[in-house]
Amino acid sequence: MKVVFLGPPGAGKGTQAVRIAEKFNVPHIATGDILRAAVKEGTELGKLAKSYMDRGELVPDDVIIGIIRERLSQDDVRSSGFILDGFPRTLPQAEALDELLSSINMELDKVIYLNVDDEEIVKRLLSRGRADDNEDVIRNRLEVYRKQTAPLIDYYKGKGLLAEINGVGDIDEITQKIVEAIGVNG
Ligand code: AMP
Repeated sequence: MKVVFLGPPGAGKGTQAVRIAEKFNVPHIATGDILRAAVKEGTELGKLAKSYMDRGELVPDDVIIGIIRERLSQDDVRSSGFILDGFPRTLPQAEALDELLSSINMELDKVIYLNVDDEEIVKRLLSRGRADDNEDVIRNRLEVYRKQTAPLIDYYKGKGLLAEINGVGDIDEITQKIVEAIGVNG
């Protein structure tokens, strides 16, 4: 299974991606989690990433693409595929992913676009309490999402890969809709 989760911050990508990854026993690759772990460990990557994350800006494409290139080369991904959560977030990242996948003879099965309106997003993020979840940073992350990530909706629509799912409602029902969108053969 090779699936990408797309959607604004707070859409529930992480929650749903973990559920799908567990259900189908596929590696869950979340760039935000990888970066937060690096920040916690105080690595060079962590130091660099933190300055962007604190402001709600995106970490530079080449850095993120390097992380994904390395992760996708690992055995578990080669045998089971992946659930990508929070990547790609820009057109150059999406193009780099296409190239990476074609170089290892893989292609995406589906892009799950979790759609949630702005008011609900701000409400959810304010109640989450993560370090980068204060109101100014949230607004900036939404702005960054609109400008840099939302164009991926059309990019994947054009490739016939997009499945749009309403991200508001009962968590189990949303999971079920995602499972149906991915299809039984995964
Ligand atoms: P997330 O946990 O997905 O909300 O990501 C938290 C923060 O990590 C984002 O606000 C960005 O600063 C950074 N980040 C995560 N994924 C990416 C990505 N694909 N490209 C650039 N920055 C990213």
